Amino acid sequence: MKITKVDVLLVDTKPADGNKWSPVLCRVYTDEGIYGDGEAAMSYGACSTGAYGTIKDFAKKIIGMNPLQSELIWETLYKETFWAQNGGPVVFSAISAIDVALWDIKGKFFHVPVYQLMGGKSREKLRCYASQLQFGWDDYKKKAVTNEDYVENARKAVAEGYDAIKIDFFTFREDGTRFNHEDTTRLLSPEKVRLVIGRLAAVREAVGDNVDILMENHSNLDAQSAVQLGRLAEKYNIFCYEEPCTPNPKMNKLVCDKLNMPIAQGERIYTRWGYAPYFEDGSIQMIQPDIGNCGGITETKKVCDLAHIYDVGVQIHVCSSPLLTAAALQIESVIPNFTIHEHHVYNRYDYNKKLCKYDYQPVDGYFTCPDIPGIGNEISDYAFLHATLKTTVE
Ligand code: MG
Repeated sequence: MKITKVDVLLVDTKPADGNKWSPVLCRVYTDEGIYGDGEAAMSYGACSTGAYGTIKDFAKKIIGMNPLQSELIWETLYKETFWAQNGGPVVFSAISAIDVALWDIKGKFFHVPVYQLMGGKSREKLRCYASQLQFGWDDYKKKAVTNEDYVENARKAVAEGYDAIKIDFFTFREDGTRFNHEDTTRLLSPEKVRLVIGRLAAVREAVGDNVDILMENHSNLDAQSAVQLGRLAEKYNIFCYEEPCTPNPKMNKLVCDKLNMPIAQGERIYTRWGYAPYFEDGSIQMIQPDIGNCGGITETKKVCDLAHIYDVGVQIHVCSSPLLTAAALQIESVIPNFTIHEHHVYNRYDYNKKLCKYDYQPVDGYFTCPDIPGIGNEISDYAFLHATLKTTVE
């Protein structure tokens, strides 16, 4: 079997809620009529066109190769594109998109879901948490500002059956505008600490002791501020403290050593080479590799297996189209150190859901893995029709 051509598309969804959401997707075709779909996890932030261009560049290198040789293709892209070694998110999101598509082809070729190719299921049901409740828990983005907003969103998720929630309490100011980098570094003022801890305390009181709270920081704080906030948050029993400071092993170690709560990092750490220092110095207790930028299914599985050596748990980072939700469930069904699945509020938005053929949602806070050949989802006709940028490499 040979790769014949690759479609690359960027869909700038321009939703009515003002969210910036531009998924970058690809479809790899073969001479046997099987195709596979992949995605670069670059829908948010400012690099989606970079990922789109890089997939185009990399696609030229894989035309004519055997898609079942995903390991060889990964190593070829890693070693023969110059910029992948010690590369960053744009390069690795492009490799990821191609790699996910190859695993999709592999599953379809052997008529099995991808989890069967990775060792089979270790569990039937995957515990989920409701993620990013500062943006509401509705079918459109709605910012949480007052304590009552946070409580309402948390209660909504718990009423749906979730027993774990994630919130970045440090996203919006009291007037609803967003905090910027000046607000969140070089030690926090008493007013800001009061605001953030007040929101956390209100949510903990509302949901009780049996709901896990993941506290998200999106790396907006510096290490000292992260410790300052973390110490005050400890008494609210935080499940894990996510991206407390800049993704740097030394700074992470500083935060980890000073706090009594597990530290999570990973949506901005790429490949085994990126994760190794965190494992070696014990500065991380939960990894969050994103299949769409860590290096695809091939690399994410290796990173998860490395984490297991160090007793580190896994929650795959998921903030993309439903394509990567399906891919995440494939790995999470298999690995022994799966901890919890991130169900991002963006998975409730119609403008995101319609980019794929299937809309998978948890039931009572638990997911089941798609059971069809391949990764379990594919790019919709709607996405192809409404792509802002689209090209075919052959
Ligand atoms: Mg995060």
